[in-house]
Amino acid sequence: MHIINLMDNKKPFVSLEFFPPKDQTLWPKFFETVEKLKIVNPLFVSVTCGALGSSQEYTKEITIRLKQEFKLEPMAHLTCIGSSTDKLHSFLKALLNARVDNVLALRGDFPQDKTFNYKEGEFKHASDLVSFLRKHYPQFGIAVASYPEGHPESFSLEEDLKFLKLKLDEDADFAITQLFFDNNIYWNFLERVRDLGIDKPIVPGILPVTSLTALERILSQCGASIPKQFLRDLHIADEKGGAEAVRALGIKYATMQIKELLDRGVPGVHIYTLNRVKACLNIFRALGLV
Ligand code: FAD
Repeated sequence: MHIINLMDNKKPFVSLEFFPPKDQTLWPKFFETVEKLKIVNPLFVSVTCGALGSSQEYTKEITIRLKQEFKLEPMAHLTCIGSSTDKLHSFLKALLNARVDNVLALRGDFPQDKTFNYKEGEFKHASDLVSFLRKHYPQFGIAVASYPEGHPESFSLEEDLKFLKLKLDEDADFAITQLFFDNNIYWNFLERVRDLGIDKPIVPGILPVTSLTALERILSQCGASIPKQFLRDLHIADEKGGAEAVRALGIKYATMQIKELLDRGVPGVHIYTLNRVKACLNIFRALGLV
């Protein structure tokens, strides 16, 4: 079923993002993680893919298993940069055959390799992928990415918003945001989105901080900001209580963010789980969701 239609029946909802472990010997543990987090009854679960479509096979296999074995509503992340339409067709047909109904349509990160060039016929933007999907695969529900602080490549948030509008006008159903650590950034963004006449759901994406190393890596990749005080508190926690104290503060902070978003009426919250069971369960318990 299309996620956008499921949203009407469950308000507010929680959705979970997982990444497929590259080492397949870790898959049994990964599926245990999914089984444990199912307790929150997610509206949908999404499965990431690697840069330039690497690990797309894993994304496909795990997405299909989440549907068939775990009876979850999965959404496969699909990037189009550097991908041929043949490759896209083959991926999408496999999902359709397995009755997977939802795709997150992404461009994907631009390769670091300065010699990278688009080949003839390749898509340059996520909006191209959305229109391709709508033309050839009307069976899919489609989500797209959005950036409350602007995409790092954009000159301005205003410019980036124009392209978010284009993706949604191409008929994507809803957007999920990049992570943010200050809810005001989301609320201001939402106001600007609505001012453009976009009335589709903009689902906030929340990352529970579970380690300083992971946080630094993620921030350097996605360009999101972090409030100075929160970062300072995380470092103090690390000095005083080490990794466990950082995790505890990260969980407390994410819980506070999610609670405020739910209290102010978001349709639901998408959690970047990083496949972390304990942290997510602690958040669900603190929110009274399990
Ligand atoms: P686009 O929407 O194409 O935007 C990219 C840039 O181009 C922006 O600056 C935009 O303003 C600009 N732009 C868009 N359309 C046009 C146009 N027509 N003309 C000129 N400029 C334009 N990456 C992965 O590799 N795997 C994942 O699984 C993954 N999951 C993600 C999930 C979420 C919820 C989010 C928010 C991001 C995710 N990403 C993932 C990261 C994403 O691939 C990168 O942020 C990527 O750089 C941009 O992808 P996009 O789909 O937003 O691109």
